[in-house]
Amino acid sequence: MPQNDLTSVSRAQTASPRPRKVPRVVVLGGGSVGLYAARRLRKKLGRREAAIVVVDPRPYMTYAPFLPEAAAGSIDGRDVVAPHRRALKGVDVLQGKVVAIDHGARRVTIHPEEGDDYSVTYDHLIVGLGSVSRTLPIPGLAENAIGFKNVEEAIAVRNHVLNRMDVASSTWDEQLRRRMLTFTFVGGGFAGVEAIAEIEDMARYATRNYATIEEKDLRFVMIEGAGRILPELSEPMAGYALEELKKRGIEFHLNTFLSSCVDGHVVTSTGVEFDSDTIVWTAGVKANPVIKEASDLPVDKMGRVTVLPTLQVADADGNVVPNAWAAGDCAAVPDVLNPGKFCPPNAQHAIREATRLADNLALELHSEKPVEYRHKSVGTVASLGLYKGVAELFGVFKLRGVLAWLMHRSYHVMAMPTGNRKIRIFIGWIGQFLLGRELVSLGSLHDPRAEFRAASVPPKKDGEPVKQTAQGSAAAAESGTGTVDADDRTPAAKAS
Ligand SMILES: Cc1cc2nc3c(=O)[nH]c(=O)nc-3n(C[C@H](O)[C@H](O)[C@H](O)COP(=O)(O)OP(=O)(O)OC[C@H]3O[C@@H](n4cnc5c(N)ncnc54)[C@H](O)[C@@H]3O)c2cc1C
Repeated sequence: MPQNDLTSVSRAQTASPRPRKVPRVVVLGGGSVGLYAARRLRKKLGRREAAIVVVDPRPYMTYAPFLPEAAAGSIDGRDVVAPHRRALKGVDVLQGKVVAIDHGARRVTIHPEEGDDYSVTYDHLIVGLGSVSRTLPIPGLAENAIGFKNVEEAIAVRNHVLNRMDVASSTWDEQLRRRMLTFTFVGGGFAGVEAIAEIEDMARYATRNYATIEEKDLRFVMIEGAGRILPELSEPMAGYALEELKKRGIEFHLNTFLSSCVDGHVVTSTGVEFDSDTIVWTAGVKANPVIKEASDLPVDKMGRVTVLPTLQVADADGNVVPNAWAAGDCAAVPDVLNPGKFCPPNAQHAIREATRLADNLALELHSEKPVEYRHKSVGTVASLGLYKGVAELFGVFKLRGVLAWLMHRSYHVMAMPTGNRKIRIFIGWIGQFLLGRELVSLGSLHDPRAEFRAASVPPKKDGEPVKQTAQGSAAAAESGTGTVDADDRTPAAKAS
């Protein structure tokens, strides 16, 4: 199938599997699993051996371990993503959401951003649909909180935090200022701790640019249901991280749940109440629900596709579901090195599982037996802000501070897909080292049409467009826009 040739992709109503000369492998999700599996397959199999199609609503793969650094401005947001069309040479990319998987009919239904749903038939399926934020029915959560799972959210959190500081610095209302400078994170796992640590570090550094905001004015709050943070680390190392963050003034509420956050008024299960303009939800993930809700693939209690250690999809009795493979956050991958346990949902496993999965599919296409996935975790590294970190390697070596932070950076930059991105990230770090952090908030990015909307004039009642004059818009002249009255000034301007 040539690049983007959809002639053999049929409309949902008419789709029917038909014999193909070249087997088609459809990869659902172009994240860590999807991107690495598709690249590996393309390397292993010639174009006459397999056509590969990747389906994802985003045109890029996001390297999530770098999201906290992107939010802190240590890495440009564009550099933590690998564009599919550049990284997936020789692979067809379909931009759209998979909304149904009918493996019995070897068909998936795709919902594109524009136009009608259509279906794609296949011979082999790879499921790498990842996870979504695991939320709870907490009053006010959907309206007031934001997740931290993708680059859009990470950049939005960064812009929002800096914007709140900009606005708070021009406000004399103490209560309002307090609310704007209170930043709440819910969930003290890896993502939450790295996010709060990096963003607090950035905000504290930023205070040097504000005459009216001091470090002590910032309030960072972490709410965590368990009695500890960072369950991925041993207790002593997690305890060290907790103490370090507490020393920086971050407030921890352990054994505590978020009960409500209606209109930004946070209420915890322990009765603590405060107002916060920023609520970031990092309280865990669950397998992409499309698998449980709209597929005929076998799933476990947690909605993950059940697979064998070979990454072949299998039912509860271990019977292989032919031509279906899965890995990453959306799959229950048995950990053969820890019998009875499953591989944790992290990038370290997802990327390696993807490689094993692609190799196994290539083996199967060559009528050979697939091999079990086994990986002994190298360890855990976490960044706690610029030049600060914790690392635990092979369960023996424990590192803290700058060394751990350097290890975190080097490990992840090596894992970042494509040489292009590795180089860009590295150059960005050098630039930051020489020139300091970039601290501008591009808040209007999230509503770029706002100013134009405000400047626009509604059409006249009879529907006639307003005529332009040589001096400018007649309507603007009529409405008097363009002149700023003394009373239009902000409180800050008045005060000065
Ligand atoms: C903030 C954060 C920090 C992290 N830090 C670390 C770390 O330091 N170390 C570590 O090892 N792991 C870390 N992780 C976890 C790691 O990123 C994930 O475990 C890993 O990305 C999982 O890979 P995946 O391919 O299963 O899912 P993903 O990489 O999330 O890919 C899923 C893909 O599926 C696509 N998709 C979703 N829905 C659909 C649909 N309906 N149709 C088609 N495509 C769809 C998505 O757009 C995405 O591209 C972190 C995660 C986060 C959020």
